[in-house]
Parts: sequence; C-alpha cells; structure tokens
Amino acid sequence: MNIQPPLPKEYQNLPVEQACRRVAQLKTALGQDVRILAHHYQSDEVFQFADFVGDSLKLSQQAAASSARFIVFCGVHFMAESADILTSPQQAVILPDISAGCAMAEMADAADVEEAFEQVQSAAGEMVVPVTYVNSSAATKAFTARAGGACCTSSNARRVFEWALASKLQGGAGGAKVFAIPDRHLGLNTAVAMGFGTEDCLVYDPKLEGGGLEALATRRAKFILWKGQCYVHQRFTTDQIERARSRQPGIRIIVHPECPRAVVAAADYSGSTEQIIQAVNAAPAGGAWAIGTETNMVRRLAANNPDKLVRTLADTPPFCRTMSRVDLPHLLWVLENLSAGKVVNQVRVEEKLSAQARLALERMLAIPPQGGISPSR
Ligand code: SF4
Repeated sequence: MNIQPPLPKEYQNLPVEQACRRVAQLKTALGQDVRILAHHYQSDEVFQFADFVGDSLKLSQQAAASSARFIVFCGVHFMAESADILTSPQQAVILPDISAGCAMAEMADAADVEEAFEQVQSAAGEMVVPVTYVNSSAATKAFTARAGGACCTSSNARRVFEWALASKLQGGAGGAKVFAIPDRHLGLNTAVAMGFGTEDCLVYDPKLEGGGLEALATRRAKFILWKGQCYVHQRFTTDQIERARSRQPGIRIIVHPECPRAVVAAADYSGSTEQIIQAVNAAPAGGAWAIGTETNMVRRLAANNPDKLVRTLADTPPFCRTMSRVDLPHLLWVLENLSAGKVVNQVRVEEKLSAQARLALERMLAIPPQGGISPSR
C-alpha cells in the first residue's frame, strides 16, 4: 500500500472558500494542460472542479481521449492505474492522495490470484477463464490477460462472462468455467442474471488452504468466485428494503451489483453507477427511488432530480472512506506543484505490466456493451 505523507502545514486547516478560490485560479492558469477527472463517489468540494465525471472506466477512456499533459484523477489508485495504462507515455496521471486505495482491489493480490488460478484450473480439469473486475490492481489485470481472460465492469459483467463461456468459433474465450475476481457478489449476481443458480457457484477463500474448495465441487461448479467484497455495498440489507417499502409504498429500489445476492434479489433493479444515474434521470417526474450505492452519488442524484423523491437505501449513509482521502487540500497541493513545474503523486504502471493489463481491458472493450439497469431476479 502507498503512504501519503502529511501535506505541508499551509494546506492543513485552510478555509474551504480560500482553497476553492485558489483551485479555481490554478485551473484557469494551467488551462488545457491539466484535466481534472472525478468519480461519482467523490465529495462535492472536489467534484465541482471536475472537467469530466463518470465511473472508473468512463473516466479512463476520457483521460485517453484527452490531449492534456496532466490528468489529475480524483478517484482511487486502481482507477489512476487504468488511466495510466490507457493514456500515452507523454501524459502523466496524478492521484492527489497516493494512499487512496480500494479495499476490494487490495483483497486480490496478483501473486495469490495466479496461484489460486493454477489450483482451480488443475482441480477443474477443463479450461477456466479469469474475468477480473476493473476494481483490481494493474498486476491482477496483467495476470488476467496472460491467462486468456478479460476485465469487466459492473455494467458489462454479464456480456464478459458470456464471452468467457462462448466457444472460440463464436468469438468467445472457449472456457468451461469462469474465475471471477475479486468481487464475489458481482460474480454471483452476474451468474444468476445469466440464469444459473447459486449451486453453480463456489467461493474461493484465499485465506484457506486450496481456497477451501474440494476438487469434486470445483469440477461441478461453473463459476469460482474470489472472496472479495466492497465494504460500502456490503452495508445494504434486505431489512432496509422492507423498511423503505413500508415507509413509501410504490418506491422503486435500485442497487449496485456489488451488493450481496439477497439484496439484489429483493430490489426492483440492479445496475452500475452510470446505469443508475441514467435510469433515475430518465424516469418520469413524481416517482420515488431508494438507491443502494455510495452516498455522495445518491445526494447529487437527488439534487439533480428535484421532481422525484430520491434517497439512499441505508439508514446510515455509507461513504467510500478511501475515495474521500482525495479532498480539496490535496487537489490544491497537486495543482500548486504543477503550476511550479513539479509533478507529485504520479501513478506509473511499469511498461510490460501495462501492455498486458491493457490487453485485458481491450478484450473487454471489444465485447458489445450491455444496456441499462436490469430487473432483479
Ligand atoms: S466504493 Fe468500494 S469498490 Fe468502490 S472504490 Fe470504494 S472500496 Fe472500492
């Protein structure tokens, strides 16, 4: 894990108005040389300065399409790595707080995943294809490409799983099984959306010898799911859904597929952050929505849809703590350094790893995308 040293004293306890004024001035002065990207889960104080907003993949693609020399990525580490992989060597990707990691991505160390894959492959006795969520390190993505797999996002996981299991003659990877890394909930929810049952899925626990799997069960399973999860989405429960429905009859519940299986099954719909935003924005006025994803995004969605009731599903709204490490003082600090000709907190993926990880992303991008939110099953 990367450690961010404390910011110089002048950035600590800086009044918000003063920090905002300085960021705005620096942004104007730096002009086209710098683009600020902000993830949907970012706080308002940072989000207001973004040139582009989106989910992790959309932001990386926007970074790649931009000619700016400096990409200031207000997200978490794996997102900045993906942006570095997809941008040109002349561009520098900067993460304002280098400690801003993703707890789920850190649950799948590349060396552990590679060892697990070999065990699973040998126990399965047939071809296993790794499908790695973009919420993973560059090293894990690179392993995925070497093993013949591809990345996926929460908006296209089903399409990528289908590709993994389709025959090579049909343009697929020709796998008999999918090894889904690192989010067990996304893996299980995707398998069920494809018509499989929970009995077709096995969880590989990296803390147990051999993942805690028996060879016979591995041979029978169609999906092996790495035991990782997001603590933000793990917080949503079926009780919250029941309470939301009893408080507001007719309310529609939409949750992220990183939520546990029972929550996705009890909701009305599931979808990625982009799919949730599009669905609520496109819904007729007057409706009521309870959303199961990170709170900053839900608050902004509510503010942008004053003709609807939009609220978080959770009673205690969950924030992504690591995302919020990227705050106004850190944004100001990186911009002031850029203005002084100094690049701080550049995220660089080593060349060989970058080429392999790019291949896993490109395989995903070659698969036709999915539509909007899905009705729950
Ligand atoms: S919300 Fe969860 S998956 Fe997303 S960056 Fe934060 S910890 Fe990672």
